[in-house]
Amino acid sequence: MTLHIDPASIAEARNGPTRYQMLIGGEWVDGAIGLEGERVSPGHGVVVSRYAFGSEQDVERAVVAARRAFHRGPWPKMKASERAAVLLRTADLIEANLERIARLDAIESGKPIRQARGEIAGAADIWRYAASLARTLHGESYANLGDTMLGVVLREPIGVVSIITPWNFPFLIVAQKLPFALAAGCTAVVKPSEMTSASTVVLGELLIEAGIPEGVVNIVLGTGPEVGAHMVAHPSVDMVSFTGSTRVGKATVEAAAKTLKKVSMELGGKNAQIVFPDADLEAAVDAAVFGAFFNAGECCNAGSRLVIHQDIAKDFLAAFAERAKRVKVGDPLDEATDVGAIITPAHLAKIANSVSDAAIDGASILIGGEAIATGAGQYMAPTVVAGVKPEMTIAREEVFGPVLSVLEFAREDEAIRLVEMTDYGLSAGVWSRNIDTAMHVARSVRTGTVWVNTFMDGYPELPFGGMKQSGIGRELGKNAVEDYSEAKTIQFHRGPRTAWWVGN
Ligand code: NAD
Repeated sequence: MTLHIDPASIAEARNGPTRYQMLIGGEWVDGAIGLEGERVSPGHGVVVSRYAFGSEQDVERAVVAARRAFHRGPWPKMKASERAAVLLRTADLIEANLERIARLDAIESGKPIRQARGEIAGAADIWRYAASLARTLHGESYANLGDTMLGVVLREPIGVVSIITPWNFPFLIVAQKLPFALAAGCTAVVKPSEMTSASTVVLGELLIEAGIPEGVVNIVLGTGPEVGAHMVAHPSVDMVSFTGSTRVGKATVEAAAKTLKKVSMELGGKNAQIVFPDADLEAAVDAAVFGAFFNAGECCNAGSRLVIHQDIAKDFLAAFAERAKRVKVGDPLDEATDVGAIITPAHLAKIANSVSDAAIDGASILIGGEAIATGAGQYMAPTVVAGVKPEMTIAREEVFGPVLSVLEFAREDEAIRLVEMTDYGLSAGVWSRNIDTAMHVARSVRTGTVWVNTFMDGYPELPFGGMKQSGIGRELGKNAVEDYSEAKTIQFHRGPRTAWWVGN
């Protein structure tokens, strides 16, 4: 299989490369020890971005700036309506710059441009949702403690938050964290993935234009060990909000525990779509293709397992293979592309190895299975691995590529057991027209989200996050601002106070 990359889009990707700096204390700066990074576009194989990379000293400067802005700056003390106004202006600016941001994410991450546009529009919507929540954050009062006592519980911003994001949804994931932290009155140090930093830098520019005070948002670029680890360990950071792999997430929780920081963890998934014979099979086929191949499967929510009733498996997979033929793999900048490039050559090799290991374990490759030759960039053919058994590695571990593993079941309880056999618990899909079946499966599986007769829809109003080893805490939803706050209890006493504990 070969794929044509238009030389015009290689030239466009090469256009630059732009060099991006870090935002610390309201200034655009290079790293203290002069580290540099660059990004080779996965879709075109050319250097598209250069970055000033930071190190421990830059994290120190950024945390000090965030701390100062928290204690001495106006942000935490402002009216919620004033903070909300900055978030709303940011949302407007995101929309005004949508095309520019979408192109940066498409070029740096390899995702299709049409999809990237949807993500940036979705991010603007989340910024607006956070603005609406900013004005609803409130505490509680207790007038039922007797005539001389009034208890008041305030919600105060937690302080300085370290925000660390991955490469697969660069602009969307920072939108699931930063506006809520800001709405609560926190200040932040943000580190995007070292591979897809450009759109987060642009967000910094837009925040300044929207009127964010100096030092409230600091952006440090660089790698996990050189930057991220120090953002987690720093004693002046109060909370770590991390999205990434379960492996790094565990190390992050351990490191954060040394100074007892609050953590919010959005980690990996090995999500299943379970299809029963009474489902709307046409819709289920479509959702299975979408779930497996959306964002080239580089998606925490990917429906990377199909758990299908044995009576319909053969016909379903035939329809799946037919439907998958219409999925256009190609240049991320091509408007017709459905599935773009794979993030790095090393990751492509890892995906291809997972598939060949599954074949060695006895599974059969129904479609795809190999990398696509392009001459520029790296691409993987949409792949279906059938006859997967629960004990196989591919049935349990995240592949993070356009690869669907198919497992068959005969009984409902068996389907639930198959879904439950991984350490992950992010999401699941159930396809059945029988309300008893759908409700029983939805209530039985331990995942943070269950979609019934749909898959991978998202709304800012609905909390999102993982059970088991897919994470700690939830993002979005009505509590998303409260998560970046702490309760402070104040007791007001009126009149003479009896010293009851000694003498009388
Ligand atoms: P990753 O864990 O390698 O990196 C994530 C971020 O952590 C990056 O910014 C990286 O530089 C940083 N990092 C790396 N080592 C670090 C360290 N020691 N200390 C602090 N920070 C460190 O993940 P990735 O490869 O960028 O992203 C893919 C993973 O993210 C997948 O496992 C995917 O499932 C997960 N993910 C989860 C969600 C979710 O909402 N649950 C969403 C998207 C992605």
